[in-house]
Amino acid sequence: MTIKIDISYISDELKSAIQNAIKQKAASESQDNNHTDEYRKIVLYDNDRQKAKQLLEDVLKKNQFNDYIIVDNINEEDEIAILRKDDLEQLGIFVCSHCGTPFASEDERIIHQRMHYFV
Ligand SMILES: [Zn+2]
Repeated sequence: MTIKIDISYISDELKSAIQNAIKQKAASESQDNNHTDEYRKIVLYDNDRQKAKQLLEDVLKKNQFNDYIIVDNINEEDEIAILRKDDLEQLGIFVCSHCGTPFASEDERIIHQRMHYFV
């Protein structure tokens, strides 16, 4: 599966941290499978969403980019995005504070979040 990572909302510093991490990983798996589309999207071939998210989470943690979050694109199945927490609601994205699932409205998020309290 091909995974696209939307990096158009993040700082240059974070962009290069992510690109370095992907390069290192590609080197250790002896494949060169990433392409950056004018620095707005990173495309990973032969990857899956879970692995890609894990990689990005590691980068965020290691470099202490605590104000960023990784979300699934609600409209594109093969796309994930890295967004600043501050930008989320402006973009019309409401993210569950427990599991990170994105919703298109605050109501949907509240209904979903309630579920976590009963598990
Ligand atoms: Zn949740």
